[in-house]
Amino acid sequence: MNISFEFFPAKTEDGAAKLRQTRIELAARKPEFFSVTFGAGGTTQDGTLNTVLDIQASGHEAAPHLSCVGSSKANIRELLARYKNNGIRRIVALRGDLPSGMLETGEFRYASELVSFIRQETGDHFFIEVAAYPETHPQAKSPAADVDAFVHKVQCGANSAITQYFYNADAFLYFRDQVRQRTDIPLIPGIMPITNYSQLARFSDACGAELPRWIRNRLQHCGDDREAIKAFGLDVVSALCERLIREGVEGLHFYTMNNSQPTLAILDRIAD
Ligand code: FAD
Repeated sequence: MNISFEFFPAKTEDGAAKLRQTRIELAARKPEFFSVTFGAGGTTQDGTLNTVLDIQASGHEAAPHLSCVGSSKANIRELLARYKNNGIRRIVALRGDLPSGMLETGEFRYASELVSFIRQETGDHFFIEVAAYPETHPQAKSPAADVDAFVHKVQCGANSAITQYFYNADAFLYFRDQVRQRTDIPLIPGIMPITNYSQLARFSDACGAELPRWIRNRLQHCGDDREAIKAFGLDVVSALCERLIREGVEGLHFYTMNNSQPTLAILDRIAD
């Protein structure tokens, strides 16, 4: 099973040291790559680059995320050159969401335009990952239009896709059936470990991922009992991963939130 791990750039020296330790612990599971998020509008540009270079220097493949909203072509061109010159071969190409208060959308409207631009500027140098939404992107005109937009992104030159996280395997399998009729690129489920109810509820509301009622309910009843939340989260997410593996997914991408323990616990459980 191919696995990959996602980080966000640390904001402080302490955070960076902790992230290095997290990376060492996760590297033992031999991931295909580590990816590092990028704040839309370039807000984490240096942090993303530095984190990616740090991972690469440790001998592991590192894939920067690159979100294009709020950026100019000149800026993206410069970043692509920096990544290429540093031997980076994989990019997660996204539209991103404009940070609140930032009004300029820039020269790219959709991730498909970024994928085309990367191909135009750098040919086949980069393996391009894009985002996919089994439960439909919240701004899509309709579920069908979202699948069309996804297939278009692939036609523009994407090689593989990582999904938004979900806890309902049927939503992923239905989406995969629809997409499979039109493209055969790998669809890697994004897996979000459950460790904290209020943070997860906030994220899910913001990104349009469903937190099923029965999960919400049980987490709410755990209250402040962190051990109970962790134990329940481990059961739910491990069962999801096991089902996805039985259904033949090509890999699993973990949203680690820069913590190794929740992801390692899932990997240990599903290896049993
Ligand atoms: P797009 O593929 O451009 O889609 C955005 C919306 O536009 C969708 O509703 C789609 O249906 C619609 N659309 C697309 N093309 C067209 C068209 N031609 N006409 C009409 N409608 C169209 N965000 C960050 O800022 N930084 C990150 O590092 C980051 N990493 C992520 C990693 C993964 C794996 C995922 C799943 C998401 C990540 N995000 C990140 C969040 C992502 O940027 C947001 O979900 C964003 O709202 C959409 O990005 P996209 O690349 O999917 O956009």
